[in-house]
Amino acid sequence: MILIVAEHAGGKLAKSTLEMVTAARDSGREGPVTLLVLGQGVAGVANEAAVVADQVLVGDLPALATYNAEVWAAATAQIAREGEATTVLIGGSRSGREYAPRVAVKLDAPYLEDAIRLSASGDALQAQRYTYLARVTETVEASGPVIVVTVKPGSFAAASAAAQPGEQYDVELELPTPRVEVTGRSVEKTSRVALTEADVIVTGGRGVGNPENFTTYVEGLADAIGAGVGATRAVVDAGWRPYAEQVGQTGKTVQPGAYIALGVSGAVQHLSGMGKSKNIIAINKDAEAPIFKVADYGIVGDVNVIVPALIEAARK
Ligand code: FAD
Repeated sequence: MILIVAEHAGGKLAKSTLEMVTAARDSGREGPVTLLVLGQGVAGVANEAAVVADQVLVGDLPALATYNAEVWAAATAQIAREGEATTVLIGGSRSGREYAPRVAVKLDAPYLEDAIRLSASGDALQAQRYTYLARVTETVEASGPVIVVTVKPGSFAAASAAAQPGEQYDVELELPTPRVEVTGRSVEKTSRVALTEADVIVTGGRGVGNPENFTTYVEGLADAIGAGVGATRAVVDAGWRPYAEQVGQTGKTVQPGAYIALGVSGAVQHLSGMGKSKNIIAINKDAEAPIFKVADYGIVGDVNVIVPALIEAARK
């Protein structure tokens, strides 16, 4: 089987999980696509998982209420071993990249990190990934009875419902007592949708002018239409916005239904993070800006003039 460890938050399956299902189906690896759902009170997540997977394995325990690398690694390795998984896919999130190498060690398996493409030939698995600050895309290959892979979020399309919902099975897990404990957690309060989950993203570039304009125009438009907020590296490097919002080769990869780029030139490193968006809408005062080469809709003009009118129209 191809084992995917489901990522979920707030009782909902994360988009990254649907992307991993596509990665699994496109990889050419044999076996049922199996989602492992770990957590406490995850029946709703398991039901969502069953819509896209061939089968769902559910570990619903108090000991799994909070993510812990030692516990997740032990549970994943146990299920991979018992199910004779040939491939284990783990999200390329901060936590996924923390426990995936532990899983590989436990299974004595090769580990491919941050895959943006997967393809199988025979019992070998090839993965593409960015390297050298994303200036180079390299292809790596591993073979063996089982291979552990992390998948870069935003690199694959989200899977849609399978022809038939997958069966769900409860699993019994032998979990270690973790040596590291989460003793506190403060969650940033925002009503805004996360960048990697958003179906519409408004991104601001240096052409927005300054941090205040970013708040007024980029966040203003995003809030008016219920979108996520992205930024170019130029804006992040200038300290206007946090790195978490950066889209591009050295930031997040996204493919929303609509990507609205305000004052973004469209440098190749930016395009590689958002070029697969279904609809790209660009506003830039330079008609020759490279972003217009990939845009489905473009407005040549000043963001300071056009965006306030868009916000007003959206609010109406
Ligand atoms: P600029 O290139 O300065 O473009 C500003 C645009 O705004 C221009 O097209 C201008 O015409 C327009 N403009 C100006 N004023 C207005 C106005 N009033 N109204 C409308 N339009 C206006 N970049 C990323 O974004 N993400 C990455 O992950 C990333 N990784 C990189 C990795 C490496 C190794 C390297 C070398 C570079 C990377 N970059 C990345 C940087 C990238 O090359 C560009 O420098 C950056 O994307 C440019 O950001 P920008 O479009 O905001 O700024």
